[in-house]
Amino acid sequence: MWIDSHNHTSHFSGDARMTAEELIGAAVNAKLGGVVITEHYEADFPDETERIMVFSIDSFFPAFSSWKRMAPGDFLLLAGIELGYQPHLAAAFDAMIPKYPFDSVILSNHLFGGHDPYFNRACYEKSKSELYSAYIHELADMVDACDEFDIVGHYDYIARYAQYPDMKMRYEDAPVAFDRFLLSLITKGKSLEINTSSVEKLRVRGIEDPLPDRRILTRYRELGGARVTLGSDSHDVSTLGIHFDKTAEYIKSLGFEYLTYFVDRKARQIPL
Ligand SMILES: [Zn+2]
Ligand SMILES: [Zn+2]
Repeated sequence: MWIDSHNHTSHFSGDARMTAEELIGAAVNAKLGGVVITEHYEADFPDETERIMVFSIDSFFPAFSSWKRMAPGDFLLLAGIELGYQPHLAAAFDAMIPKYPFDSVILSNHLFGGHDPYFNRACYEKSKSELYSAYIHELADMVDACDEFDIVGHYDYIARYAQYPDMKMRYEDAPVAFDRFLLSLITKGKSLEINTSSVEKLRVRGIEDPLPDRRILTRYRELGGARVTLGSDSHDVSTLGIHFDKTAEYIKSLGFEYLTYFVDRKARQIPL
């Protein structure tokens, strides 16, 4: 049974369209063994939006306790957060996270050149390899700058809204940057998220091989990487655990032995 380590609810994430009760119901229907609720925490978000981008962590934990009571006894409901990284926030995140009983912390970068490409597509005027390289170098900087996290979210976020004919992020787009990023991740013992919403976005765009680039993952293994985490990044009930079976099978075929999720900030393994 898989654990889906990346999900948002409408209680605390401004862009989500499901309640915790709906999320738990959909996850049970999808035969997941558990989910991590990882609400967006986007301090100092630069783009103009009506959405609520940060939530009160002090209000989250009492709500989480009430959700836990509504989950079936054999279902693992875990408390997480998705931190939106910016360089000036690193120290504040490292100070804040240990104060709360999170199970699992995702560190993500939703920005490039001071904007979220979801709201502002100017970055796509750059060539694919220039843009993807610069983004992955920033992920390496992010991993170097922060300690209090477990998983790097969607390393391919910048590809999601790209308009290049072949938008998929590949190792060849950014080999130097990928080596830096993957080594930093391995050195710090953090886990690489495979974001299956990214897989779905590529599939919908007609990309023939929507699963993550083989060379990125084999390079990660070559360098010593073993920790991979599956997250659907669900914002509504339609995508819980999406593409998990085939992604897990694919990861196994590349030589990975287990999936990683986190309970009480400690890594746990699901054998493949
Ligand atoms: Zn995200
Ligand atoms: Zn997310």
